[in-house]
Parts: sequence; structure tokens; C-alpha cells
Amino acid sequence: MRIFKEIKEAQGYIKKEKEKGRSVGFVPTMGYLHEGHLSLIREARKRNDLVVVSIFVNPAQFGPKEDYKRYPRDLKRDERLARASGADIIFYPSVRGIYPDGYQTYVEVTDITERLCGKSRPGHFKGVATIVTKLFNIVQPDIAYFGQKDAQQAIVIKRMAGDLNMDLKIRVMPIVREPDGLAMSSRNRYLSDRERSDAPVLYDSLNLARRLIKSGCRDTNRIKNDMKRLIKSKKGARIDYISISDLRNLRELKRIKKEALIALAVRIGKRRLIDNMIVGGRI
Ligand code: AMP
Repeated sequence: MRIFKEIKEAQGYIKKEKEKGRSVGFVPTMGYLHEGHLSLIREARKRNDLVVVSIFVNPAQFGPKEDYKRYPRDLKRDERLARASGADIIFYPSVRGIYPDGYQTYVEVTDITERLCGKSRPGHFKGVATIVTKLFNIVQPDIAYFGQKDAQQAIVIKRMAGDLNMDLKIRVMPIVREPDGLAMSSRNRYLSDRERSDAPVLYDSLNLARRLIKSGCRDTNRIKNDMKRLIKSKKGARIDYISISDLRNLRELKRIKKEALIALAVRIGKRRLIDNMIVGGRI
């Protein structure tokens, strides 16, 4: 496995590999890898000749009060895990390399970025769309892999790739969970014991929604209210949003017809956790 820190070197190496006819699978991450990331790397390994994993904690997607500085970082550990999962290349650029002095160019996806997480994280998806575009330009992947864990992000990236005629496929892989249902996240390590024991309530509320839908309930207000009640039974939990939306345009639904994205963000203590479930379709 090779590690590239310089953009030009990574770009040159991958370009040569592509000229030999090798297909490139790409997994963009912010590092501190866990089983969720590794599932994407393994899938990329199965389907591509060259597997590129990027590790870059992207300052442009963090708000001023968010945890950019505190975001966990451990390159040595990530190297070991990425190699064991089949990565050929780790691309680990510097902030200076990605955003040199005088940097002025951003990619903005409208409407769908203003909903759900976009409401409480203004500018977040502009940062995401910009870094992902830059990484796609550098790596030139045939297939890029994202997790359903960040469902809105995956929907935004798919929209962007389609709208901007990017010549690659986007694959969205299932959410990997802890045994008690908590969706894996690099940030979970910051939960106190008490917070950690409350955290599975997000998944529990999604399962409650699933049961209601299975028993015939289509009224999204009723489903959201039942989810709310369950989450509020945990003292330390504060709901940011619960959304039941159209899987394509993320507009809120009054009734569930065919497909829907049920997504939520909940603060547990100081930590903001997200989770989601899709009914009747896929991203
Ligand atoms: P991050 O490092 O948090 O930016 O995540 C990098 C990629 O891994 C994104 O496409 C995420 O959606 C995906 N990912 C993160 N956590 C999970 C998980 N628990 N299951 C599946 N994919 C995940």
C-alpha cells in the first residue's frame, strides 16, 4: 500500500494506473476508520483493480462552533486498517494543499442541502460538495463509495454528480451498526458511558417507525410523534429534527406512499448523532 500526501504525486500515479486499463474504486473519508468505512473499502476491493482511500478532515464542512479541531485523527491506525481491508493507496493531503492561499472556488447544490441537516449546519454541504468534487478531479474514480449513514450527503453527491455530468458511478452501502444498533461513527468515542447507553434510542425509534409502517400506518405525523415520545424518554436526548421525506427531493411527506427516507438528528449530551432508514427504495 502506498501513501501519498502530495496531490500531484497521487494524481500522476493514479493516472498512470488508469492508462494501463485499471479501474479505480474510491472511498473518501475523514479517517479514524471503523467498520463502516472498512465495509466501503472491502466493497471497492471486490469491484475494482485499484482501491484509493482518502483521509482528509475537511475544514470547509465544519461550522465555526463544530468539532474540527477535536475531530479524532490517527494515521498509523488508519493505515493498518485500510491495508488489511484491501486499500492500495491512502491519499492524505494537507489542508494547505487542498485550500492554498487565495482559494476561491466552491460547489453549491441548492434546495436539498437546505433541508434536514442543512438547517442546523449551514454551509456544511457546500463544504462537502466542494471537497468531493476536488477529490473526484484528483482521483478520477470509476466508482466512488459512500455510506447510507450520511444519507443526505449521499443524495447530495448523487445529485451533484448527475447535474455536473461527472463521469463516474456512485454506490451507497448499508449502515454498519454496533451490536446494540448504534450506527458506527468516528465521533462515538466521545460519548460518556451514560450518553453511550442512551445513544441506541435513535435506532430504536427507527425500528418503532418500521413497525408502525408494517402494521399499516402511513400518517407521517403519527409516526414522528411516536418516535419523539420514545426519544424524549431519555433525559439527556434533545431532538434536532425527525424527518420523513421524499427520497429524491427530501421534501417532507404527509403520507408514506412508496419510498421514503426517515432520518433524524438527536443531541445526546453535547454530541449530535444522526441515523436513518429507507422504506420502499434505495438511494
Ligand atoms: P466520514 O469519515 O465520517 O466522512 O465517512 C466516510 C464515509 O464512510 C461516508 O461515505 C460515510 O457515510 C461512511 N460511513 C460512516 N459511518 C458509516 C457506517 N456506520 N456505516 C456505513 N458507512 C459509514
